[in-house]
Amino acid sequence: MAPAAKVRVAINGYGTIGKRVADAVAKQPDMVLAGVAKTRPSFEAVRAVEKGYPLFVAGTGRAAEFEAVGLKVAGTLPDLLGRADIVVDATPDDVGLANRAIYAQRGIRAIFQGGEDADIAEASFSALANYAACRGKRSLRVVSCNTTGIARAVSVVEPRWGVASWEATLVRRAADPAESSRGPVNGILPHFHIPSHHGPDVRTVYPDLPIVTTALVVPTTLMHVHANHVRLRTAPKDVAEVIRAFRETPRFHLFAPWERVDGTPQAMEYARDRGIGLNDMIENVVWEAGVHLEGRELRFFQAIHQESIVVPENIDAIRAMLDLAPDGPTSVTRTDRALGIPAPR
Ligand code: NAD
Repeated sequence: MAPAAKVRVAINGYGTIGKRVADAVAKQPDMVLAGVAKTRPSFEAVRAVEKGYPLFVAGTGRAAEFEAVGLKVAGTLPDLLGRADIVVDATPDDVGLANRAIYAQRGIRAIFQGGEDADIAEASFSALANYAACRGKRSLRVVSCNTTGIARAVSVVEPRWGVASWEATLVRRAADPAESSRGPVNGILPHFHIPSHHGPDVRTVYPDLPIVTTALVVPTTLMHVHANHVRLRTAPKDVAEVIRAFRETPRFHLFAPWERVDGTPQAMEYARDRGIGLNDMIENVVWEAGVHLEGRELRFFQAIHQESIVVPENIDAIRAMLDLAPDGPTSVTRTDRALGIPAPR
């Protein structure tokens, strides 16, 4: 029997998220990277060419600008879309909305990111939460980094013990490491709007979850940290049962106290040492020492690497839309194996 044809994936927007999703697509056994589209030449365009990714010109960009600095382009965004079965839009917040019309006109399936409003796509997606409900959709929105982190945690807690209420305080990084235009920020900035938008966003994948989120921005670029307080419906036997549940779930990385990871600096140092993706920490980080249980009151901290957590989710979204896997867990295992993310142990 001839092997199944690989799905051709286009990436429009080649920045923090787009370049990581492109690398992840290139590693999947059932996908091929049709190319990446950028508006302007930059070091990232140079890297795309060095990696052998076909480079296309998007938006208001001009091929002549790329060619003037020696970067060969393979065509424009419409050319790229013509060579692809699906497009992942990783352009800045709200640009995806303008691009939606271009994708719709060409009849190509599209995945948008969390910076867009939920109504940009047929459904919002998070692999451990609602893969099954998103199968066969023509458009999906992968929820933001913080929402993905919370949704993953809900997928552990809710089915096992039920959730009577969930309160999360999000301590958010001020900027991404390369984002010099947003920093430095010398202060702690509370969001005065309560709930912050994250709680309602989690409900785009868990509609009935009784969750309230508050958020503050702090001067770091490494990760976000969530302080969670969950009132459970039934009590776990002990805290070890909760830690085991996180440990046995894909896309969670637990640090034991003896590992001496006392915060995000060592978590990201571990990621740099490990070298997955662009030295990314793709899993939710949970500190065993930070999981506390008192009857039905569960409290835990988790850290979220904003630049990479949504990368495997985009891959699973492609599989869900094109029905490339029998179910969500199979897709998650396939994605994680290809990316080198350790299986739960
Ligand atoms: P980014 O600014 O790092 O990258 C966006 C890229 O798109 C840039 O290279 C930019 O030049 C390019 N671009 C701009 N206009 C374009 C157009 N019309 N056509 C094609 N390319 C264009 O942004 P990002 O951080 O990668 O964010 C992309 C999306 O992912 C946003 O919706 C964001 O909210 C979401 N997201 C970001 C993070 C994060 O922490 N960075 C985490 C999760 C989700």
